[in-house]
Amino acid sequence: MLVSAVRPLGRPAPRATCGHYDRDVPDCLFCGIAAGQIPATIVLEGKRTIAFRDINPQAPTHVLVVTRDHYPDAAALAAAGGGLLDELVGTAREVAVAEGIEPTGYRLVFNTGRDAQQTVGHVHVHVLGGRPMTWPPG
Ligand code: 5GP
Ligand code: ZN
Repeated sequence: MLVSAVRPLGRPAPRATCGHYDRDVPDCLFCGIAAGQIPATIVLEGKRTIAFRDINPQAPTHVLVVTRDHYPDAAALAAAGGGLLDELVGTAREVAVAEGIEPTGYRLVFNTGRDAQQTVGHVHVHVLGGRPMTWPPG
């Protein structure tokens, strides 16, 4: 398996090898939004994913796409398998189409961990578009 093949010797195996983490984590903001307990401006709803507008938009379109089940970050979601990461990115593209930014392009961002300034520990991809982006990111 790829994950164990690249794991340095002596390191513990990643926690998720199949299935998912706790489905619904108490006090998790995005679990609350996905469950409809915390208000948000919903853009798209799927069976396993949901998209809503970022409360502090950084571009004309700034939508967050999250899984309904709780995973801490993109790497954990990828390790869990089951095609959900693909679905998350597919939903992000659907958002881009619905927002009319797919033809001109858009940026997908997975902030992961402290240095990337991930502030919500529930996997989410930012869909940013509607203006030319700059590079490098800050
Ligand atoms: P991160 O920094 O973890 O990559 O992204 C978290 C995002 O969640 C930020 O862009 C932030 O503006 C957004 N956010 C934080 N609190 C809320 C909220 O209560 N509702 C919504 N819709 N977005 C939020
Ligand atoms: Zn959560």
